[in-house]
Amino acid sequence: MIENHLPTAELQRLDAAHHMHPFTHGDALAEKGARIITKADGVFLTDSEGNEILDAMAGLWCVNIGYGRKELAEAAYRQMLQLPYYNTFFQTSHVPAIELAARIAELAPGDLNHVFFAGSGSEANDTNLRMVRQYWAMMGQPDRQVVISRWNGYHGSSVGSGSLGGMKFMHEQGGMPIPGIEHIDQPDWWSEGGDMTPEAFGIARARALEERILEIGADRVAAFIAEPVQGAGGVIVPPETYWPEIKRILAKYDILFVADEVICGFGRTGNWFGSQTYDLVPDIMTIAKGLSSGYAPIGASVVSDKVAGVIGKGEFAHGYTYSGHPVAAAVALENLRILDEEGIVERAGSVTAPYLGAKWNSLTDHPLVGEARICGLMGSIALTPDKARRAPFAADKGTVGLICRERCFANNLVMRHVGDRMIISPPLTISEAEIDLLIERARLSLDEAL
Ligand code: PLP
Repeated sequence: MIENHLPTAELQRLDAAHHMHPFTHGDALAEKGARIITKADGVFLTDSEGNEILDAMAGLWCVNIGYGRKELAEAAYRQMLQLPYYNTFFQTSHVPAIELAARIAELAPGDLNHVFFAGSGSEANDTNLRMVRQYWAMMGQPDRQVVISRWNGYHGSSVGSGSLGGMKFMHEQGGMPIPGIEHIDQPDWWSEGGDMTPEAFGIARARALEERILEIGADRVAAFIAEPVQGAGGVIVPPETYWPEIKRILAKYDILFVADEVICGFGRTGNWFGSQTYDLVPDIMTIAKGLSSGYAPIGASVVSDKVAGVIGKGEFAHGYTYSGHPVAAAVALENLRILDEEGIVERAGSVTAPYLGAKWNSLTDHPLVGEARICGLMGSIALTPDKARRAPFAADKGTVGLICRERCFANNLVMRHVGDRMIISPPLTISEAEIDLLIERARLSLDEAL
């Protein structure tokens, strides 16, 4: 452990002077200083001033098992002594990677029986981009190169995965999207549904996929990638009609489907995978975050018999130094063991999700809250000046969300804001009393943001 031997102000000065943060405005950091987190247990973080903060985001949607599980630290320690590193390139393998691949294959739905490891969700989606194109090349259809994804989807931050994502503010920096990636509109009924019913809107947004396939030419489209529930875009729970229609279209044109389960996987939607919640049959599934509950960096592409059978006929010239890293794999195995043996995923779906859902939906009686959406243990509320018109805070979009997030933080609650949406994704292990505290602090913060 790195001891905290400096006063907070000095840590903040060093942080702003030397540490470049992801997705953070440098000037704001220098002005205000970061809140420095020193330890965590269960669903609570402790900062350098000794405050206890309820982490309703499970870090970055990843600490599914909760903080402070010693078994994971012990698994890392044991593995580091036994074999701290070896690779899985060039005809070598090791026990943690083998056992983890086999366990993931057991848990994953359908014929997703093959695992290509990466260090993160971004890397795994870069793998997917190359894999679907290579699949079609090996199938004798090299023109099938285009991948379709959705505006406001998030698939990572590398050039490949950031291009797959539909975050325009990211595309503006660093030359994204790269060629061969097309975006269609998202199924966000509250913000974009106008006068349509959610059901009609779900069909319309799914049909946008078919229209785009026909524009491009089906014989040029390799794959469609999507999160079962868009997370970073604002927890966009699609209308019920959306996924069945998407499935119909993908089957009609024989297009591969990549389900990005980086957030939805490992219990977040109340089942092991979001694909089970929505009855999807992916050809490839992206996993990361909850795979190790964030205790070690690891991600993977989980690949169907159909795709792996073709890719495996040649050498896929792709891989990362840390593909299947033994320590990360050992930690992930221990995490999966606990999630399963302690019934954490099962309880999240059958007990915690209904309790949290009822409490979360009760926030719609607040004057600022227009809509509450929740799927399992991922939820969002839309802040609005006019509930009846589903109006956004037009000119200053995002400002009210930011104020609300800052009020939450001041009240020792981590919630995220995406524009004027407030988001939660707590550890799956959150108790009913902790959910009550979460809602109490959220309500107080909303009152203060009014
Ligand atoms: N895919 C989804 C759906 C994500 O939410 C994220 C990260 O938030 C990623 C991919 C990228 O994962 P990573 O940050 O581990 O690269």
